[in-house]
Amino acid sequence: MQVDVLIVGQGLCGTLLCWQLQQEGKTFLVIDNNLPNASSKVAAGVINPVTGRQYVTTWMIDELMAYAQTAYGELSEFLGTPLMQRKRIIEFFPTPDARNTFIEKLTENDTYRHSYPDQNFFNPILNYDFGCGEVSPAFTVAVGELLQRWRNELEKQNTLLPESFNEDELVVSDDGIQYQNISAGNIIFCDGIAASQNKWFSLLPFSANKGEALIIECEGLPKEFIYKRKLTMVPMQEEAFFWIGSNYQFRFENDKPSEAFYSSTVEALNDWLKLPYKVVDHKAAVRPATVERRPFVGFHPVYRNVGILNGMGTKGSSLAPFFAKELVQNLVHGLPITPQADVQRFSRILSR
Ligand SMILES: Cc1cc2nc3c(=O)[nH]c(=O)nc-3n(C[C@H](O)[C@H](O)[C@H](O)COP(=O)(O)OP(=O)(O)OC[C@H]3O[C@@H](n4cnc5c(N)ncnc54)[C@H](O)[C@@H]3O)c2cc1C
Repeated sequence: MQVDVLIVGQGLCGTLLCWQLQQEGKTFLVIDNNLPNASSKVAAGVINPVTGRQYVTTWMIDELMAYAQTAYGELSEFLGTPLMQRKRIIEFFPTPDARNTFIEKLTENDTYRHSYPDQNFFNPILNYDFGCGEVSPAFTVAVGELLQRWRNELEKQNTLLPESFNEDELVVSDDGIQYQNISAGNIIFCDGIAASQNKWFSLLPFSANKGEALIIECEGLPKEFIYKRKLTMVPMQEEAFFWIGSNYQFRFENDKPSEAFYSSTVEALNDWLKLPYKVVDHKAAVRPATVERRPFVGFHPVYRNVGILNGMGTKGSSLAPFFAKELVQNLVHGLPITPQADVQRFSRILSR
């Protein structure tokens, strides 16, 4: 079997890479072992233009958000389901200082940070002492739905090998790659945190980061907002379902849901949410994060047919569409990759 590109992994990165290759008329085959706790399957899918306790504007967000709307819009049409929804994030300030920081950041005609006109609006449903502000536009991406529908599409096109990739069976040469009976011009790894053990890219500075989430059912909580305080409550596609998370653990014993997260989250939720709710699920995954918080995109400096699309950290929903496109434009048309994301910045390390 001969294809242009062999892709390892069908999380957000692998899926968006397929889409870009398809747009360019390139053929591909995907090998994916469908890990139930892959990062994309646990993610809330939020695209937030503002980051962290200082409420700073997210890196490259204007371009990322604009292109995410294009890519998910096209995919929604192709797959016959809406995959992206516009939301308003309500920041409930945890302290007076946080409120001051937000207000100081507000500028006239601020694109993303806004004061919230009715400070008492959420009183019937939530406890909060120091007021709230709004961040918008923001979006949620139905990542689970996208992955499942794309997988069905791959099965239909006979372009999925539903198994684990075995790196010992890969032969890389100057002309391309051979894997079992598959010949391809290139192989591109979209294998999430597994790439940190992968023989070609394990030297990249990954910074594995475990996160957990509860899924709750709660009637009466408006679904047009994303609610943020210590926790974030994100409306899901399913009626009355909300995603509640998360934590960021750089040291962890395993990638499984923990009792500690469950109890601290339920405690914080009871303190915040005035409506009755029921916990229906508890999930955990390891984010493929990086030390410098920038993605890994491009081709190996020595094995030039071996590529990577990874390191999306906490922001796969916005980064993956844009960088999948850059990677394919680089492969097909030789166009440059954003230097802060291009793995060529690590060519000395990768050439060891
Ligand atoms: C709790 C939590 C909340 C998050 N919330 C958000 C959010 O709100 N917004 C946001 O933008 N991002 C969020 N993220 C981050 C987001 O999930 C990631 O940035 C993104 O999903 C990473 O996608 P990926 O395709 O690189 O990796 P993954 O989703 O891990 O996909 C890797 C794929 O490769 C497959 N694979 C791995 N090894 C092999 C192998 N040897 N052979 C075959 N297949 C293999 C796996 O089965 C999987 O399908 C969150 C993450 C977590 C954990």
